[in-house]
Amino acid sequence: MVSSASSTIIFPPSQTPVRVRMVDTTALMTVRAESFVKPVQKPGHELLNLTCVAFLIEHTPSGRRVMFDLGVRKDFWNYAAVLQKRIGSVIPSLRVDRDVPEILAEKGIALDSISSVIWSHYHWDHIGDMSLFPPSTELVVGPGFKAAPLLLPGFPEKLDSPVRTSDFKGRELREIDFKSSSLRIGGYGVHDFFGDGSFYLLDTPGHCIGHMCGLARTTAGNDSTFLLLGGDICHFVGDIRPNPRYPIPDPVPADVLDRDSGYFPTPCPCSLFTDHHPAISHGIQSGAPKQTPFYKVSTLGSSAYVDPPTAQESVDELINFEQSPAVMVCIAHDEALLKFLPTLNRDPGSDLNNWKSAGWKEKCRWDWLNELPRNGKPGRKPIVEGFWRDGKPWDRSKMGEDGEREAEEAKKGRS
Ligand SMILES: [Zn+2]
Repeated sequence: MVSSASSTIIFPPSQTPVRVRMVDTTALMTVRAESFVKPVQKPGHELLNLTCVAFLIEHTPSGRRVMFDLGVRKDFWNYAAVLQKRIGSVIPSLRVDRDVPEILAEKGIALDSISSVIWSHYHWDHIGDMSLFPPSTELVVGPGFKAAPLLLPGFPEKLDSPVRTSDFKGRELREIDFKSSSLRIGGYGVHDFFGDGSFYLLDTPGHCIGHMCGLARTTAGNDSTFLLLGGDICHFVGDIRPNPRYPIPDPVPADVLDRDSGYFPTPCPCSLFTDHHPAISHGIQSGAPKQTPFYKVSTLGSSAYVDPPTAQESVDELINFEQSPAVMVCIAHDEALLKFLPTLNRDPGSDLNNWKSAGWKEKCRWDWLNELPRNGKPGRKPIVEGFWRDGKPWDRSKMGEDGEREAEEAKKGRS
């Protein structure tokens, strides 16, 4: 990757936008922060709260509709076997009430009108349940997917594969080759998805094999605007905020802070957060904490990033996009998006295309501060505790028994 640190990003011109709507995948989870960010602020931020969004992209000239990511399938106990262990060990809490295909159908988006599902990457919390889509829906994956010894032919043919054969069997499985184009935007290699500059895939390696972001043109012309669909390029926006262009305001505006927490003075000086900025304990000069991201990607042995230095390069480039007034960055697990933006679930007629005139980038920018510890008190409470199934708390340790019981009931039903 060529670094374009703090340079202005040149966007290729195009007169064609895509329409972008956001789907709340309904997944709520907590994860151990140390596997995702460093250095973890302790005590108070040992867990990250993750929600999860996906995007419906519509291209008017071709009439094609595309899903970028699918979130978690609601029957997550039916993922490939190797994931059952992983979900138990890395994820302390998980609740999913609905499948994305179910939400689409309910809102009048016929599944056979979705020509492609793009996986930002193959991890379980983004791939949903592809088997709910008809065979006419192609599956698009990032570079290296097909050749990865870990993945194909998929579970159960390959017992330790994290993807199921049923995800791609009988449908076109298309792998993006970023090398076939010399086009670059910022420091990223690019694939022009519809061939007219309306929607790009970005080569953003480091988290896992074939990780891609999306870059959707939300308004056309010389002053085009874009939504950067981040997938898991990073898992927490404290990896890209604050930054030199958007330092933490002082005092922190009252409408940013959780009112019911009772933690925050009025006015709230930004030192409440910046005094604990990891940059201070790492010897960065004073003044920097207001405009230096709080976190970098985890480099522990248990890191969620398979190649942390490369992942950090991808994130460093993302900071340039974040600082561009033409771009709003939406990483999949940013809670603020669901708090402030319209979703297909709640408001199916509303898209995100007017994000700039609506001021949504500003509105979402500082919500994550509520997650951080302050004055020795912990950040936001976990958004979910324990495992949930069918809308009720679920003792996952009894999964074996449940499975056996279901098998028995299925047998009875047949006889
Ligand atoms: Zn994820």
